[in-house]
Amino acid sequence: MKLISLKKDENIKVALDIKSFLNPDYVYIPSFSKKIIVKQNAKVVKGDLLFNNSNEKSPISGEVIGLKKMQASGKYTDCVVIKNDYQEQSHNLKSPNISKITIDILLNALENHHDKELFQVFKSLKKAQNIVLKVFDEEPYTKNSIMLFKENLNEILDMVDALQILYHSNKNIIVVKGKESSIINECLNTIGSYPTLKLSLIDDLYFMNTNKYLLDYLHLNEYETLTLSVYDVVKIYKYIYHNEDEYEKTITISGNGIKGNGLVLRVKKYTSLNEILTKYVKANKDSLYIENGLLTGFLINKDDAIVSDNTKVINIMKDSKYKESACFNCGKCLCICPVNINPIKCYKQKEKDKRCINCGLCNYICPVYLDLKKYVRGEK
Ligand code: SF4
Ligand code: SF4
Repeated sequence: MKLISLKKDENIKVALDIKSFLNPDYVYIPSFSKKIIVKQNAKVVKGDLLFNNSNEKSPISGEVIGLKKMQASGKYTDCVVIKNDYQEQSHNLKSPNISKITIDILLNALENHHDKELFQVFKSLKKAQNIVLKVFDEEPYTKNSIMLFKENLNEILDMVDALQILYHSNKNIIVVKGKESSIINECLNTIGSYPTLKLSLIDDLYFMNTNKYLLDYLHLNEYETLTLSVYDVVKIYKYIYHNEDEYEKTITISGNGIKGNGLVLRVKKYTSLNEILTKYVKANKDSLYIENGLLTGFLINKDDAIVSDNTKVINIMKDSKYKESACFNCGKCLCICPVNINPIKCYKQKEKDKRCINCGLCNYICPVYLDLKKYVRGEK
């Protein structure tokens, strides 16, 4: 599979700092048909469970004021609305005093915080000759990882250092895109104080976020390497050292529909996008709002959308740029498809191709903005 260099609009910029918005007036916790176990007007504290057989917790303290249909990860669902009392009251969970991490401590922390995905990663990990930390985002115009890294530098490096001691790994590599070198320069002194951690600058190529391709590029064996993202390491650190769930998300808001630069924000999970936009973003009228990237993301209605567990980036794009028109047979979609599908054929003959890996490159490259991926995947 070929790694692809994406053409990007150099005028779309993202400010190089993180803003925090952790006191929303309301949060909207998606139910996705689960049985709600809190009553109207009930008082909740941060960490209270809201549904039967689910680990969804309130990220704030306040009062349950009812239900509202909102869009979470592109799907409409009833959400429990909690009005913030701005007290941040929570269950007083003790932070454990840990001097040395063991595999049991790690697995217990992941289990207690219901992180099934990371639990499986570590449960099935027999050895880790190498540890790779991914400090980059795949989606264009997204800066979450590098900004999270800068903001939590000591905690992240401590955590990776603790993992390398635990697994006796030989190579411990922090992977950053070469174009982020200005931020990395700010972190060099701190990174230098961890002699077992090495920095690797990579090219900005699409598919690097796929572990297999990244490890091939770094000449490391996939089966001997523990590959983690910055998001993973920040979560693990919080679980182990603060006994705390993930109540906050880091998101980027960027695009050519914004007046000025885009920004990276730390927000409470389940905050409404509208509340965030009203405070932080001036967007052109008639812009389109796309959640989770211009390649594989989806259109959302900004008035009804919330920041969900999966939200990473909101791109606000000028509407005129995304109006579909007729194919003029330039062949770009055919050339870029990494699995050699002919998207034009699928589009014209309404023919599905099962080989599609949903990478979104054909849509991204098409100059007339045809939604080719949907035809290829039989969704149109
Ligand atoms: S989305 Fe599917 S058809 Fe389009 S480029 Fe990717 S693999 Fe090929
Ligand atoms: S990239 Fe778009 S315009 Fe070019 S051939 Fe493919 S569908 Fe047609």
